[in-house]
Amino acid sequence: MQTDLPADYTDTPSGARAERILRSCVHCGFCNATCPTYQLLGDELDGPRGRIYLIKDMLETGEVTPVVVQHLDRCLTCRACETTCPSGVAYGELLEIGRAYMEPVAGRGLLARWQRRWLKAVVPYPRSFRRWLRLGRLFRWLLPRRLASQVPALGRRRPQQNPARKRPARRVVLLEGCVQRVSTPGVNDALRTLLARRDVAVVSVAEEACCGSLALHLGDAEAAEASMRRNLDALAPHLETAGAVISTASGCGVTLKDYGRLLASDPLYAPFARLLSDKLVDVSEYLHALDPGFKRARDFRRVAWHAPCTLAHGQKLNGLVESLLVGAGYELVPVPDAHLCCGSAGTYSLLQLQLAEQLKKNKLAALTAGAPDVIATANVGCQTHMSTDAPVPVVHWVELLR
Ligand code: SF4
Ligand code: SF4
Repeated sequence: MQTDLPADYTDTPSGARAERILRSCVHCGFCNATCPTYQLLGDELDGPRGRIYLIKDMLETGEVTPVVVQHLDRCLTCRACETTCPSGVAYGELLEIGRAYMEPVAGRGLLARWQRRWLKAVVPYPRSFRRWLRLGRLFRWLLPRRLASQVPALGRRRPQQNPARKRPARRVVLLEGCVQRVSTPGVNDALRTLLARRDVAVVSVAEEACCGSLALHLGDAEAAEASMRRNLDALAPHLETAGAVISTASGCGVTLKDYGRLLASDPLYAPFARLLSDKLVDVSEYLHALDPGFKRARDFRRVAWHAPCTLAHGQKLNGLVESLLVGAGYELVPVPDAHLCCGSAGTYSLLQLQLAEQLKKNKLAALTAGAPDVIATANVGCQTHMSTDAPVPVVHWVELLR
């Protein structure tokens, strides 16, 4: 794709990167075939190719129009288009640059500005998030139907069994996550039990902060980087001695693995950011390498597996969870259109209620087509989003292993 970005913009790291990404697109349009918003809305501007053109025009002219804002807002950041693209266009990175450029002058109304500020001020902080979630559950009946259906339940902790021996063979840092800690704390509890039985000591870092993905999705690069630095301050003392840093929420993992790139221009934090990215593994990578011969839980047999976009398209980890579940004795039911997003997509399910609901409805129809006993996924956002309407339990896949 030909570009004509202003010279003073291409002199900046973001501008130079945007130009390289834009030029790698050959506008073939293959990516539209797997884009969930293009499939739902049938509008070229709601597909990746159209959005790439919108970003290019915006960066060339400096004009942030309501059309640009509307169509970039509607993108799920699912990155299914990256998986499909034959030219390797780094669409997710381009969108990140586009949103950061657009956001300060997006001209949002008062309510939309308040919503975004509220999300950034509450969700990444477990204490305040828990408080708001309790209020939300209490006054759900007062909320509009679509919003009420998005309020997840408060999660329960599981008692841990079989603590690790006094001198465990391995040591890992387990990230608690900010939303997961409140909504589904039982996931990490289940993993702790699994690891303790295999002689792995698990360290949790009390000061762990939000990974920054929420602010990043909302186009607030400054807030995202501040969050990443806070997180690194907390984790840095543990990085040298930990064999691995494990994330059980693929939505956090995809951002944490990218710290090295995201903080590359910060001379103070870049080395720690790279170290964290190198040590960060999704739980599926860790358990697969451990190869510990898991068994299935007694309650379920037939599993519908939903790979979150952040696992399948963001981290490109396909097949690991499936092989662990099958190895444990589960039967995986076929799921049509498995590459499509469930509509959770970070804050999308709160900011784009109608589209998120439609995507969830379609996804649940696909997941339950094979009559599963349970739906398994790998990210707290997908789990809580689908749980509100699913006819069978929706769990994190780690909870299915014994
Ligand atoms: S992003 Fe990739 S698939 Fe989409 S139009 Fe560009 S080159 Fe083609
Ligand atoms: S990230 Fe997802 S929703 Fe956005 S353009 Fe790509 S495929 Fe479509």
